[in-house]
Amino acid sequence: MIEMKNVYKKYPNGITAINGLDVRINQGEFVYVVGPSGAGKSTFIKMIYREELPTKGTVKVGEFHLGNLKPRKIPYLRRHVGVVFQDFKLLPRLTVYENVAYAMQVVGKNPKQIQKRTLEVLDLVGLKHKVRMFPNELSGGEQQRVAIARAIANMPRVLIADEPTGNLDPETAWGIMDLLEEINNQGTTIIMATHNAEIVNRVRHRLLAFENGRIARDQERGEYGYEN
Ligand code: ADP
Repeated sequence: MIEMKNVYKKYPNGITAINGLDVRINQGEFVYVVGPSGAGKSTFIKMIYREELPTKGTVKVGEFHLGNLKPRKIPYLRRHVGVVFQDFKLLPRLTVYENVAYAMQVVGKNPKQIQKRTLEVLDLVGLKHKVRMFPNELSGGEQQRVAIARAIANMPRVLIADEPTGNLDPETAWGIMDLLEEINNQGTTIIMATHNAEIVNRVRHRLLAFENGRIARDQERGEYGYEN
């Protein structure tokens, strides 16, 4: 599903964020990405949805070869890769309903499908009763649920979550975790960068521990290490 071979990423300022990476992630896996700040986690994640391109090496996501993906083809890739951020990134002037529907409008789905799917995903995340509210009327956990609903609206094969629980209290974080588990159980690959040792140690999944732009540890059902 996702394959990186001999990947390097050097930013224009000279910093090498990814320094020789080989990894393969299969469809349906749930993978944690951990490591100290600056280890390259975000850069790794950004290369999966082609926010950043590698300086060297190959990145494949499904049938997409990201190194030579034409810019006009990026929207096609993004239908297969949903992304959720620590700070939610909802559109403040749109309602909950509109935030989710918008993700489908931009890829040209028909209005009937959009309506059906919007209500379906908002039901899945437990927010069908708040469709008319605006992001600033919601709690952090609810905003993250809307962001997740939006990210899965187009039924992506991969859902990337960059510190999705980073701004949430522990109880709310567990709720978000349950939701991600449920989405994973439906077959979506999940890649989640996190600093939350409690979650990583309690809900065991494959773990990629980054250090200095490399994967220092790749474990099935891995544990959060002290070094992370
Ligand atoms: P992490 O997510 O593990 O904190 P990052 O991938 O954000 O790591 O960063 C890895 C290294 O690359 C850091 O030294 C960071 O300062 C640098 N870096 C990240 N993004 C950029 C950028 N857009 N331009 C220049 N340097 C960057």
